[in-house]
Amino acid sequence: MSITLSIIYLIATVTFVIGLKNLGHPETAKKGNLIAAGGMGIAIIGTICIHDIDVPIFIYIIIGAAILVGSIIGWLIAVKVEMTKMPELVSLFNGFGGASAALIGIVEFGNNSGGISHVATIIAAIAIGSITFSGSLIAWAKLNGMMWKDIRLPKYNLINNVFFLILLVFSIYIIWSHTESYLMIIFLLAASLVYGVLFVIPIGGADMPVVISLLNSLTGIAAAITGILYDNMVMLVGGILVGSAGLILTFAMCKAMNRPLSNVIFGAFGGDDVVAGSGAQIGGTIKKTNPSDAAVMMNYSNKVVIVPGYGLAVAQAQHVIHELEELLTKKGVEVSYAIHPVAGRMPGHMNVLLAESNVDYDKLIDMDDINPQFKNTDVVLVVGANDVVNPAAHNDPSSPIYGMPILDVENAKSIIINKRSMNPGYAGIQNELFFNQKTSMLFGDAKEALTKLVQELKNL
Ligand code: NDP
Repeated sequence: MSITLSIIYLIATVTFVIGLKNLGHPETAKKGNLIAAGGMGIAIIGTICIHDIDVPIFIYIIIGAAILVGSIIGWLIAVKVEMTKMPELVSLFNGFGGASAALIGIVEFGNNSGGISHVATIIAAIAIGSITFSGSLIAWAKLNGMMWKDIRLPKYNLINNVFFLILLVFSIYIIWSHTESYLMIIFLLAASLVYGVLFVIPIGGADMPVVISLLNSLTGIAAAITGILYDNMVMLVGGILVGSAGLILTFAMCKAMNRPLSNVIFGAFGGDDVVAGSGAQIGGTIKKTNPSDAAVMMNYSNKVVIVPGYGLAVAQAQHVIHELEELLTKKGVEVSYAIHPVAGRMPGHMNVLLAESNVDYDKLIDMDDINPQFKNTDVVLVVGANDVVNPAAHNDPSSPIYGMPILDVENAKSIIINKRSMNPGYAGIQNELFFNQKTSMLFGDAKEALTKLVQELKNL
């Protein structure tokens, strides 16, 4: 490899690390994304332009056309996608990453001239890439509602494990046998695709983002393997960064839901059977409020904490909630936002959403820091959040969310909950908080209800 290309790859690698560091905070995340994307652009251009072999002109045309078409499609999708649909998009992108690794493996199998470790790398790229591709497509179909039900074959765990073992043994056989048979590779491809489907179809409900994060990590591993194949440092480092970041995220999400990863993969959280069969009977009378009374209550408070949830994202109410916060602050009320690590439908969902409306980051308080503050809070305003404030996580051992850390809003002096109905949240369970004597329900779409609330506050 030429020295110039090595330097280009080094620069690209550094931009990935800087980009990743910047992605750790909402204020710098956009910059981080651009830096890493710039680095990737430099690496691609360097690879195309600097090489030792003669490349016919039509190859450049094909590469250029593929980059152009891919960029246009990617740009259009990314610009149009709604925040609530982001996990689906991530899943789709993961799938394409896996498919690329598998295709590279198939092409390289034909060119294979290396030793056993080289063949092992090719086989790993094909198997892991294909599992990621089919698994991610199933995850995408589930998240966008095309395939909502969790499909559990009888003894699905046993079937999946046996299938995985067969796949492993078959892969080892291909490596050891020095076969040049493409039929074997087609079998491996098909079996890996089937395993990807079997792996994801039983998983459902609130566990889907965890699975997507795990598949994202697998995409990184597949990319790193192709980096080994081509002795390409930038692919290797990029893949390792994606793989390790995906794994860290997967474990962080499991921790926030207080569930081991094995329980996500082999368990049934969020599945219909669990939701229907567990959880204490909850009932009683609820107290309704209206924007006018809610505005008075908040206006005469010293401290208000806003709890944003998935419903805030659905209603696109991030701008009006910021307006409400600014209005209360002007009136001398101390306002902050309580951020649960799995509020919404993907990690950091609420941070990204509130950053979009220029909420001051210092006002976003993490769960562990805000929980002790609720007892000194006059009013908690819960907007489109449900599971993340459900006390059943503390009180009801039969609840599917039992043990999940929650925001302890019931410790506040008064609670206002905005949602459209008494329908449950993502975990599919009722919330005893709605029947708490301190709670008032402000029914309605978050954007409409908050707009009225802001109007009432302005009139006070
Ligand atoms: P939930 O899904 O529990 O609740 C959202 C609530 O918003 C619903 O009860 C719904 O009630 C209400 N809502 C929907 N649309 C609107 C609207 N337009 N206006 C007002 N309210 C609306 O969300 P949470 O954020 O509390 O919890 C997140 C869930 O996702 C948890 O179960 C968590 O475990 C899970 N999860 C999240 C992950 C992440 O990474 N963030 C990862 C894995 C799981 P109604 O229909 O009555 O309006």
